[in-house]
Amino acid sequence: QWLRRAEFMTSAPKLSLCPPDTGFEIAFAGRSNAGKSSAINAITAQRQLARASKTPGRTQMINFFTLQNTDQRLVDLPGYGYAAVPEAMKLVWQKELEKYLIQRKSLAGLVLLMDIRHPLKHFDQMMLQWAKSRNLFVHVLLTKADKLNRGPANTVLLDVKKQLNADGLDFSIQLFSAMRRQGLEDLAIVMADRLHF
Ligand code: GDP
Repeated sequence: QWLRRAEFMTSAPKLSLCPPDTGFEIAFAGRSNAGKSSAINAITAQRQLARASKTPGRTQMINFFTLQNTDQRLVDLPGYGYAAVPEAMKLVWQKELEKYLIQRKSLAGLVLLMDIRHPLKHFDQMMLQWAKSRNLFVHVLLTKADKLNRGPANTVLLDVKKQLNADGLDFSIQLFSAMRRQGLEDLAIVMADRLHF
């Protein structure tokens, strides 16, 4: 499977230090602890790929993974949810994230991860609005779906869908569990079909 060819490329502390803005990128975003590293590791079938982003000092960096022999990249965006990060630092990061989402030409779309038990928090709303402002395609993953039974999980799925529609956000959404490997195939299809991968 094509996503297995992902390998760590570089970390950029800000937009101006990102790799050349060519080809296609899909960015993964979510509040810290949303399950982003687990998801990236699951879809690339590599246990340790997203581990770099977990080291506290490095959490606030944009991490780039390249698919070998292509001009396609997966991008792991910072979640800045760590209490240890000072408020001033969070603001600097918010600005960099906004700049990346709004200015990055190679960005084909965003995968936004939200813990199914805590959807649509402030961080998520902010990301959705930035994406909307430049007509960027967003695919939402409700992560850790295994934490709820099937009925309640589907109820959250419908509720979040409704909420997005009410906000004029016509984005796609699915249940996901890295632990149960649920939704991997659906995500790969969206990445290929809607995000040009
Ligand atoms: P990140 O901070 O967004 O990169 O989140 P991680 O991938 O590190 O996951 C945060 C926590 O949620 C860890 O304790 C994971 O073991 C747990 N987690 C991640 N994905 C799943 C999942 O699909 N199911 C369950 N039950 N736990 C998960």
